[in-house]
Amino acid sequence: MQLKKIQVASKVGCQIRSRQSEIRNQSCPIIMGLMRLVLHLNFVSQIFTKKNTRTMEAMTLDQLKATLRGELIQPGDAKYADACKVYNGMIHRKPTYIAYCADVSDVRAAVNFGRENGLLIAIRGGGHNGGGLGICDDGLVIDLSRIKYTYVDPVTKTVRAGGGCVWGDVDHSTHGFGMATPSGIIGTTGVGGLTLGGGIGHLSRKCGLSIDNLLEAQVVLADGSVVTASEKENSDLFWAIRGGGGNFGIVTSFLFRLHPIDTVYAGPMFWDLEKAPEIMKWYRDFIKTAPDDLNGFFAFLVVPAGPPFPEHLHMRNVCGIVWCYTGPLENGEKTFADIRTKFGTPILDWVGPIPHPALQSMFDALYVPGLQWYWRADFVKELSDEAIAQHMKYGGNIPTMFSTMHLYPVNGKAGQPKPGDTAWHNRDAVWAQVIVGVDPDPANAEKITKWCKDYYNALHPYGHGGGAYVNFMMDEGQDRIKASYGENYDRLVAIKAKYDPKNIFRVNQNIKPVAEGSKASA
Ligand SMILES: Cc1cc2nc3c(=O)[nH]c(=O)nc-3n(C[C@H](O)[C@H](O)[C@H](O)COP(=O)(O)OP(=O)(O)OC[C@H]3O[C@@H](n4cnc5c(N)ncnc54)[C@H](O)[C@@H]3O)c2cc1C
Repeated sequence: MQLKKIQVASKVGCQIRSRQSEIRNQSCPIIMGLMRLVLHLNFVSQIFTKKNTRTMEAMTLDQLKATLRGELIQPGDAKYADACKVYNGMIHRKPTYIAYCADVSDVRAAVNFGRENGLLIAIRGGGHNGGGLGICDDGLVIDLSRIKYTYVDPVTKTVRAGGGCVWGDVDHSTHGFGMATPSGIIGTTGVGGLTLGGGIGHLSRKCGLSIDNLLEAQVVLADGSVVTASEKENSDLFWAIRGGGGNFGIVTSFLFRLHPIDTVYAGPMFWDLEKAPEIMKWYRDFIKTAPDDLNGFFAFLVVPAGPPFPEHLHMRNVCGIVWCYTGPLENGEKTFADIRTKFGTPILDWVGPIPHPALQSMFDALYVPGLQWYWRADFVKELSDEAIAQHMKYGGNIPTMFSTMHLYPVNGKAGQPKPGDTAWHNRDAVWAQVIVGVDPDPANAEKITKWCKDYYNALHPYGHGGGAYVNFMMDEGQDRIKASYGENYDRLVAIKAKYDPKNIFRVNQNIKPVAEGSKASA
């Protein structure tokens, strides 16, 4: 496949530096000032030319600073402590440089600076990753949060989103046109990380995963060049970024397909904990045959101790399903009539007409940034009685108000593509299961971690394929990553070797460019 590259013109070291020393010999400060300005403009202009005028010398920090339209933060800067924060309060990493990129050219300059200076590079989109993959120690963080724009085209029914958008940005802009694209269940999650890992949410059964609705991406590669990835251009790269995470480059713009989804009939429904085995047994069969219009993820949770939840339910360990019906609104009542009576009246029933962005942001206020999070996950195909018994043991004993277990359906439309159609492999799984120990207090970190690990260890034998949804994993080793990609792994290795042979982008669920004993081909 022909790689369409825009030549990088950001390495101008030698030429500029030799002319800088000439300037230092000048005595008139006005002339010196003018010369500096000319050199700066000369340097910046070379960044934007297509001609590669770079020498072998590494880009200096001053050159990076002169190039960035965004901002470079370093240790000692007043903003440094805040710039080091990511969503998971358990993660404390101290990078040497944090480059807030304002546009694609900034990203290219940052990539070149990091690569030429041998720095570890982390890419930060929304900063939500459970394992803290948006930040690193000692290296360079390329932060995309300022590349935030959306453009809805009502004619082609698409939305283009900047690489630093969070889903709330996209949901807000598309809702204005009565449309939506599949995302996650929290509005503050990054479009970048969520999409590149797969993207599961309320619309998965109706419209597929986020990657199934991705039409095109603009990608800055490890060598600083910029390419388009789509079915028509660099289709191998397009295949790989649909599930392969941030391994292949930095996506600065995403183009998604939109669906006519506006107000949905949706919300949470809770039942007493003792009803959980009966409900789970019904749900495991129901969700396999339910119409694609109906999504519902099962949860064990503790009812939050505050409004709008009724006081008598506060801090009760319950089970629930968060529904999202995208069929005709007038059919909503009918769709839930049987479910509403089947297990007695639910102890909480907030299922009803709701604007799609309101559903998407329903849990944002509960899950604010900075909480302690510990994650474990699996894919699940069968929910056996034995597995349900283990769920009752751990899901029925949640250690803190924020901790929870979710079973997200990935069947329906999300299950229709073949395992080899995109890098996301597990098209035959029925659920992506996630167990999260969550609490604001670092003193409880050990407690939530232990509960999460114990729960996972008890359920993992009932999982499917040994792997998990990569976006729900922490640092769990290479075998888990391989298992998650199954037979797609070797092809991912070959594509990685083509686009990032030196593994410049490795702060992720890493696909190494060298296959161990396998003959990978792109
Ligand atoms: C509260 C919460 C709720 C969640 N809910 C869901 C859900 O409903 N559905 C779901 O599918 N997932 C969900 N997730 C998981 C989420 O998909 C991952 O945490 C994901 O990594 C977050 O993306 P981010 O951009 O915010 O993360 P970051 O921490 O910024 O980045 C994570 C990884 O993605 C890569 N990356 C990010 N942006 C780019 C980019 N533009 N180009 C290249 N690489 C990039 C980085 O290299 C890094 O490895 C949730 C996470 C949290 C914390």
